[in-house]
Amino acid sequence: MARCSYCGDRAGLWRRICGDCRKLLARVNELRGHVGYGEFLDELEKTGVPREKIVEFLKADPEGKGSIQDQITAEMASELMRVMGLKGSQTPQDVKRVRKTAGKESS
Ligand SMILES: [Zn+2]
Repeated sequence: MARCSYCGDRAGLWRRICGDCRKLLARVNELRGHVGYGEFLDELEKTGVPREKIVEFLKADPEGKGSIQDQITAEMASELMRVMGLKGSQTPQDVKRVRKTAGKESS
């Protein structure tokens, strides 16, 4: 039985992503760039997926491109910088580095 590459739950045969994470991923793609982070989390909870699973999903980094959470944060930070007329943009790696430097998370 394959495991979900996001939350680690059983995903079913031939699947890399379980049903819940598939649902979350679709919602993320609809929401990104349109809503703020708080609203973003609210909308994800409305999918009916348990909050703990949403957290697991947001922190997962199955493709090594940065977790969903870091990607969304980077996009929002870049957007904010653009709105404020600042040059440059944030990447998921930047966000990850800042978070690690801040020491809020050990992993
Ligand atoms: Zn999953």
